[in-house]
Amino acid sequence: MTQHPSRMGHVPPIVTPASSPPIFQTTAFDIPDLDVLAALHAGTADGHIYTRDSNPNHKALAESIATLEGAESGAVFASGMGAIAAVAMTLAGTGDHILVGRSLYGITLKLMRRLQQQFGVDVSYFDATDAASVAGHLQTSTKFCLIETVSNPLLEVADIASIASALNGVPLVVDSTFTTPELIRPLEHGAEIVVHSASKYLNGHGDVMLGVAAGSASHMRAVRATSSVFGQNANPFESWLTQRGLRTLPLRMQQITKTTSQLAEFLSQHPAVATVYHPTLRHHGTHRLATELYPDGTGGIVSFAFRDGGKARVNAFMQAAESIPFSATLADARTTISHPATTSHGFMTKAERADIGITDELVRISVGLEPIEQLKPELDAALNSASGYAESR
Ligand SMILES: *Cc1c(COP(=O)(O)O)cnc(C)c1O
Repeated sequence: MTQHPSRMGHVPPIVTPASSPPIFQTTAFDIPDLDVLAALHAGTADGHIYTRDSNPNHKALAESIATLEGAESGAVFASGMGAIAAVAMTLAGTGDHILVGRSLYGITLKLMRRLQQQFGVDVSYFDATDAASVAGHLQTSTKFCLIETVSNPLLEVADIASIASALNGVPLVVDSTFTTPELIRPLEHGAEIVVHSASKYLNGHGDVMLGVAAGSASHMRAVRATSSVFGQNANPFESWLTQRGLRTLPLRMQQITKTTSQLAEFLSQHPAVATVYHPTLRHHGTHRLATELYPDGTGGIVSFAFRDGGKARVNAFMQAAESIPFSATLADARTTISHPATTSHGFMTKAERADIGITDELVRISVGLEPIEQLKPELDAALNSASGYAESR
């Protein structure tokens, strides 16, 4: 006799100690009766109903992030954009006003345009290095302000505490993707919600798409409710992988931060390079604030501009840097290079890019875990080759 189809996938619950947590790769959870269901809905019983809403792997990761950020609660999303969109759509709606940093991650800026054009949210942009300008933008309908800890790709450090206090009670949302809780905990500086693309450092191995948020229990409850109806939740496997990545976050950030400062110094002395953007360098516009806020460094991103030669020069550099791949991401364990003008900020006009300092000659390096002794000669050779400098320095 054949088994009834509804029994075919049935397995008894497995409980066994393991050095790594199990992956709950499941759509839903078996619930003994309607009383338990009611208790789960009411939040008086612990458990899960449906993975779009929650899952043990989500919960474990959200709790880890909350602990790292010093927050009451956390939430996980299908991507960093999922996290930012869920937070934005929770805090603001049609007719509301929001205030956002003008040099945010390119797709975040694109999302802000979308919120304005499609959903009637009024968006103002401000220079996040100028906390004094916040007051002039505030309206009674301002629902939140969004900034990044350190901007992409020019590494401008935001004065989180000054912006938070200028906001006068309007919630500050901080994207800390570039810096991670190893280098700064924005909630301790007055932010109400912190978000990350965990596709970057939190996971750190270039094999995950995931976003996280952390803040008060009530904010996170509301954000999770948004993410449930818009289907922005993470999946169990990506949550598990990110949790695994977190185990090495402190070591990775230490190594990456140290190598990046050394490379910034090296690049700033190279004749092919016109400007290096890194807050550890004295000439950087936010150097002083960076030394106060980030005693351990600002993470693994350093950008530089060639003297001239436009995209062709950058192209020659990328072709010469054979073992350092061009990749439209950052925070991989490997060092990667990117060209902001054609990737993250490619949707802007050249004039719009020029306005925020992004030229065709600009290259962004995401420094990985390779030793500096390996990276320096490779970059040196590629820079020389691209610029026609025959002599290595
Ligand atoms: C990558 C990134 C995002 C978007 O995250 P995804 O996981 O790619 O959706 C948002 N903010 C910053 C600063 C990023 O670097």
